[in-house]
Amino acid sequence: QSKKAGKNTLRFFNPDMQATIEARHQMERWLQQALAKNEFRILYQLQVTEERQEQFACGAELLLRWQHPVRGLVSPAEFIPLAEETGLIVPIGQWVLETACRQIKTWESDPLRQHLQLSVNVSARQFRHPEFVRHVLNALQVSGANPRNLKLELTESLVLENLAEAIAKMQAIKQVGVQFAMDDFGTGHSSLSNLKKLPLDQIKIDQSFVRDLPANHDDAVIVQTIISMARNLGMEIIAEGVETQAQCEFLAVHECRNFQGYLFSRPVDIDEFERLLLRFPVAEQAALTHLKSGV
Ligand code: C2E
Ligand code: MG
Ligand code: MG
Ligand code: MG
Repeated sequence: QSKKAGKNTLRFFNPDMQATIEARHQMERWLQQALAKNEFRILYQLQVTEERQEQFACGAELLLRWQHPVRGLVSPAEFIPLAEETGLIVPIGQWVLETACRQIKTWESDPLRQHLQLSVNVSARQFRHPEFVRHVLNALQVSGANPRNLKLELTESLVLENLAEAIAKMQAIKQVGVQFAMDDFGTGHSSLSNLKKLPLDQIKIDQSFVRDLPANHDDAVIVQTIISMARNLGMEIIAEGVETQAQCEFLAVHECRNFQGYLFSRPVDIDEFERLLLRFPVAEQAALTHLKSGV
């Protein structure tokens, strides 16, 4: 190699890049096989609602894992971005949705569990798919699940990509009774005027604002602002990443009475989730409605 091809020269190929591309292709093949071999698992993380100092289970968020034969349980941060890029997130996401619907149906005849609401994360690629509305309605229809027990979590950036289209899709899905939550709220760039236009039922305060509560003054102010904004827009509010009693108390004092976080439970498999319900009785719908109306 000539001296001219020094460090200021762009090289289109170097061994590192080659390795990266190979690794990506390998990962993509693994993901494809994982789907075919049923290596994806779903964990359920309890959502709790507090009423008159008592805590009840109100639902769970479904969190995806990949049970890799060699690497063990792989977290979504490691494979969702690639699944998103390759489009594999569409069939994977559909599988999560179908699993949620089947679980809802399973609980239908149980007088208490029938009140649990399951929350499913929806990725940008999945939501943008022209057939997304049909995918959701299909999962509901095939399973026979009550749409009122299903909640879909979207993120700000996903919705802002095309606000009008997002609203239209949300409305089409809401028509049958499915609810929508805004995930990781506060980390994106949505303006108040945009937020107001969205047919959201719930706002999830991102865990980054919860982490340093109650000591961090800035976070305390942000959280109080989000809570009052949600209330003024008629949306329910839930805090993510609640790990300590002090965080929980701060939130409750400021009228956020729905929580999700390690303080209550880590994400667990369905059997363990059902055992958790022995410690956290299921909130009855009546109680929830009561809570929502702020009486
Ligand atoms: P997310 O939807 O914001 O989920 C909350 C994340 O916070 C989960 O991480 C959960 O395990 C974690 N978490 C819950 N409570 C606590 C706590 O008290 N402290 C701390 N430090 N963390 C807590 P996880 O399971 O690793 O998922 C990460 C992200 O991957 C999710 O963030 C979501 O964006 C994405 N994801 C997970 N499952 C799916 C899925 O089925 N589909 C799609 N599209 N994305 C998914
Ligand atoms: Mg989520
Ligand atoms: Mg979140
Ligand atoms: Mg998150």
